[in-house]
Formats: sequence, C-alpha cells, structure tokens
Amino acid sequence: MAQFQRPTLCCCRKVLTVPSKSCEGGQGLGQCRLVDIASASNFHCFKLRHFHLDLRLNFAVKEITGWQVLELVAIQPGVQTLVLDTHPSLLIHSIDCKVPGTTGAQDISPSLTYRVDPFTDYGSSLNISLPAYVIRPHRAFQITVRYTTTDGPAIWWLDAELTCGQTRPLVFTQGHSVCNRSFFPCFDTPAVKSTYTATVRVPEGVTVLMSASRSAYSKQDRVFQFSMEYPVPAYLVALVAGDLQHVDIGPRSRVWAEPCILTCAVSKLGGSVERWLNVAEDLFGPYVWGRYDIVFLPPSFPIVAMENPCLTFIISSILESREFLLIDVIHEIAHGWFGNAVTNATWEEMWLSEGLATYAQRRITTEAYGEAFTCLETVFRLDALHRQMRLLGDNNPVSKLQVKFEPGINPSSLMNLFTYEKGFCFVSYLSQLCGNVKRFDSFLRAYIEQFKFSSVVAQDLLDFFLGFFPELKESCVAQREGLEFERWLNGCGPPLCEPDLSAGGVLTGPVQSLCDLWASEPPDPEAIANFNLSSWSTFQTVLFLDRLLDRSPLSHEVMGQLSRCYSAQLDEMNAEVRIRWLQIVVRNSFYPDLPRIRGFLHKHTSRMYTVPLYEDLCSGVMKCFAAEVFYQTQARLHPNLRRTLQQILFQTSALPTPTGSAPSLLHPTPLSPSPTPRDQLGSADPPTTGTIALRDVNVSA
Ligand SMILES: [Zn+2]
Repeated sequence: MAQFQRPTLCCCRKVLTVPSKSCEGGQGLGQCRLVDIASASNFHCFKLRHFHLDLRLNFAVKEITGWQVLELVAIQPGVQTLVLDTHPSLLIHSIDCKVPGTTGAQDISPSLTYRVDPFTDYGSSLNISLPAYVIRPHRAFQITVRYTTTDGPAIWWLDAELTCGQTRPLVFTQGHSVCNRSFFPCFDTPAVKSTYTATVRVPEGVTVLMSASRSAYSKQDRVFQFSMEYPVPAYLVALVAGDLQHVDIGPRSRVWAEPCILTCAVSKLGGSVERWLNVAEDLFGPYVWGRYDIVFLPPSFPIVAMENPCLTFIISSILESREFLLIDVIHEIAHGWFGNAVTNATWEEMWLSEGLATYAQRRITTEAYGEAFTCLETVFRLDALHRQMRLLGDNNPVSKLQVKFEPGINPSSLMNLFTYEKGFCFVSYLSQLCGNVKRFDSFLRAYIEQFKFSSVVAQDLLDFFLGFFPELKESCVAQREGLEFERWLNGCGPPLCEPDLSAGGVLTGPVQSLCDLWASEPPDPEAIANFNLSSWSTFQTVLFLDRLLDRSPLSHEVMGQLSRCYSAQLDEMNAEVRIRWLQIVVRNSFYPDLPRIRGFLHKHTSRMYTVPLYEDLCSGVMKCFAAEVFYQTQARLHPNLRRTLQQILFQTSALPTPTGSAPSLLHPTPLSPSPTPRDQLGSADPPTTGTIALRDVNVSA
C-alpha cells in the first residue's frame, strides 16, 4: 500500500497529495488525488473566478429549476474536458459555452456534449467536452448548465406540518461537507473558493435568504438577488426560503425566524451578538464578512448549527437551552475567522477549521464570561471526548487529526469529537508553547491576515507558527519528545496533553462531589440534600448527569432514589438536561419514569434529541415502547429522520461495550437495503450503531 503523502500546497496554492514538479508562473503541475471529489484530476487546470445561480423554487413539486453560469479560466494548455462534481438527483438539461469578448460563431457555441458517470454513493462525475478554441491558457470562458434538482442530500423540503408555524412549507440547504454537488454542479472541495451571485424566484409570501454579503428584493417580480463579494468554497453556499421575518438585534445583525418563534429568538440573543463580535474582533482582527445574521430553522434541521458566512443556520430546538445556545452561536461566530476566512484545504484536515474555531470560541467565552465558565464547558466536552475514545478504542484511525480517506468514504463521517476537541488541545498546546495567551492571540491575528480568503493545510499553520516565533523554531519545539507535531497530527488516541482547567474547579468541584456521594454505598441522603441542582448552571447539571450515565448500570434502589430526588425538578429544565436524565432512565430500565420519555419524544422531533434516545431504547429492553412512540409521532418527523429511526428500530445490533471493537469510519458504510441519498449523509445521518450516538457528537458544525 502506498504511503500516505501529507497534503501540501503548490506555489499556486492548489492542494496536492502527490509531489508536484515545480510550479512555473502559477501554473499547477502537481497531481491531486483527493478521493472525495470527481473533479480531483481536473480542478488544477482551471481557475473558477465566479459563478451565478438563477433559480426558481417550486414548493408544489419540491423542485429547484434554473441555470448556473461558471466563469472559468484555463490555466493549463491542452485540457479538453471540464470535470465537475454533481449528484444523481440533479438532472442536467443542457450545457453551453461562451467566450466573452469574441465575436461571431465563437461567441456562443452550440450545446456542449457531456457525460455523467457514477463516482461514489454521495455523488457523480460530470464530464463536459470543451471546444478546442476555448482552451487557451489564461483566457476566460463561461459554461452555462441548465438543470433541475429535487431532493438530493443538500436540499431539505419541509411540508408545512414540519415547520414551527405549521402554515407554510419551507426549504433549506445544508452543504457541509460534500452535499452541495446535489444543489449545483461544482468543484466540491474546500480547496476551491470563488465569489458568487444568485437570483432566486419564489411564490408570493416566501422570503429567501442566502449566505451572501448583499441582498435585494423586487416585490413586483418576486425575485431575490444575492451577492457574496468574498470568495467561499462550495460547501458554504446556503439557501433557506419560507415564511421568515426578522428583527434587527445590532448594527450588523438581525435574527430571522418563522413569526411564531421570532420574539423568543430575539429575546434570547438581543444585545449579546454584537458584544460577542466585538470581543472576537479584539482577539482575532476585523470581522471580514460585513453582516452577521442568524436564521432559526425548524427541528428538522439535521445538525445543531452551521457557519454559513453572513448567515448562521441554527436549530430552533436549542432556544430553550440558553447556555448551549450561547456556546453554539459563539462557535459559529468564531468560524467567521477560522473555517470561513481561512479554510482547511481538504476534509482530511477538518481539525484546522473545527479545532481552531473551538479554541477561538473558548477565547471569546473566557473574555466574555470568565475562565471558570469556559473551563467547565471544556471539561464537559473533554469528558465526552474520552467517552468516545473508550467506545472506539485507542487505535481507531478516526482519532487522528490528519486522517486518510479510502475511496468512497463520505467526509461527513469525520464529524467526530476528535476533530473538535483533540484539535482544540493541539491548538491549546501551541498556545502554551509561546508562553502567553495574548502572544498567541497576536499570532492568530497574523495567521488570519496572512491566509484570509484562502485554504490551507496543516503545514501552512505550523510553518507560519514557527516563523512567527523564531525562538521556538530554534529550540526545536516541533520535535519535543512525546509531543512531536507529527505525533499530534498522525498519532491515534487521546490528545497528547490537555490544557490546565483547574480554573473551572469552583464549578466542577461540586459536580464531582455530588457524583461521589451517589457512588458511595449506600448514598447518604442528608449529604446529598446539601446540593441544590436548581442553583447550578446547565453545564454543571449536564456534566453531573453525564458522569452518572458513565456509571450506569446503577442499582434499582439508587435509581429510585435519584428519581425521587431529581425527576420532577429536571422536568422543569431544558431539553439538554432532560435528555441526559432520560438516557439514564433508559440505560437502567427504570420503568417508573417511562411516561417522561414518551412526553419528551412527543414534544421533541429533532434528530439531535430523538436519535440518541431511540438508540438507547432499542439496544435495551424497551424496543416495543420505542416502536409504539415512533408510530404515534412519525407523522411529525422529517422523512429522512423517519428512515433513520426505522433503521434503528428494525436493526438488532446492541450497543457496543467499551471494550468492543467499533466500526472504522474511514471505510464507506455499506448501502442500506433501500438506499436513499440522504441515508448516506454522515453528519446529518450518523451511524446508527450507537457507537457515536449524536449525544456524543452533539456539536455544531
Ligand atoms: Zn464548527
């Protein structure tokens, strides 16, 4: 087997995984073997300058129809084919080509010939034959693709009943990581960035929003116009359309939501967002995207939040859990610098986006809410990382920061806590090396300034780090024994070191004390009564419940005592707290609290709350109960979620034990008996084995 070549960048900043010949005059001559894009063999040959989408949304038949114009420049001579990523759900009607500035027959060519080939279960390959006169190096040309797309992995049509208001349908897109090839043909890699514009036509009463820096609306024509003036990768192009209204919450921010939840959403965020943006700008330099708006989506949104530039998408289910809402929005704000301005060039190094964004998020919360709160939140997440580690085993390749995909692997399956938390620990280690957190802030500001609007590989970050701190380079910090940068990137297992979180002791101490009291035999009710959960923060309570869950199975007596102590009290708390208590109930088969589970599943129809509970119910002795609740509630679930839950209900595998071997995520998941595109969606549709229950990866994208 060929040895893994670490991705590098050619001097023209194209990503390479096979050493290149020297690159002359910005012409990429290297080879790229990214296995997740059909366009890998080809995208070095072109520069994508800009693209335009002209789309009509048809809710009645759940179709998007229109055309896309790609403005390209050939940067290598002799290329006869343009290869783009697409998807079987996207039907191409015609493709033609135009060379601006030329006259006569060459101005508009007749339709081009093209072929769609199978590629993987998450996409196909669109091969367009280019006329000979087009392929002149450094000359611009335009390709127009007319197409219709229906319900591919990127596009989520919601019938009115699935929205919060239940009066009008809604559609949103979710591109991360490799889904947008079903939205429009593209170079579906974070290595390629371009500006885009869009024209979107909709029925009356529908408002359209996109991840764009400018927008305009013509009421007469019912046409929305968008422009993203800064280069973005394909996965960050996003659209939502429905009954949406807004309230301004700051000089550059508004909250968008369906009318029935708008007031609540505004009350939870008003006043805070501008403050967080200001803290982030003080730390990392100017916010480059102009606007920072947030749109709340119905519970069918398959993840918690998505950092679409200028317009964070976030699930409305999180509104009731104030501290989680705060962390999730700050995390998405941090992506404005880390992930969106500077992007990982390949999905094999997703930690460059998530690890840095998580570090930046915690710098912001430290400044805004203090060190103790930030350390508590970090302890809670690192607990989850270690839980995942126990499930996966020390040698699982998903625990590497730098992974290598096998052909066919869907990069979305990389959405695990290692990307976030091991990445965070490595960034914290770099920060520790330079001795002073403020000095590291100034390094991050310089890093953003140096690489903004481009895509990078790990080597860029590390070279820039050592160049910024020459004394560290001189003292060979990259080779420090046991903590080698190479080992951080390529080693399996837990982080090589974790930051000092003792400042959180004032908040985590009582949590651990109460856990210890419950672990003693028998638990001492008087000592336990000294702790009042209602005076705790949400993160303290969820940390407590997670640690109790780790100790399951608990004796029936202890469960009875826990239930008497907390059940009614926890009922009054938010969903993040309640789901954890209910998981304890299920994993310990504590029947007296079963009605609470029914109540919760009747109320909560989002993936992030239903999937972990159904997984626990079905791997224990409560499968019949799960089936009953499923049949009562299925009409209110999105069809994709319904399919996932059906799979959970009808599969027989049990929860793996901590010592059991977990399936590797680096190999493609086998097709289900009746495969649908969305069943292959990694981040939206996590493995249903319980190995990485969403509870463990309940992190924003
Ligand atoms: Zn993120």
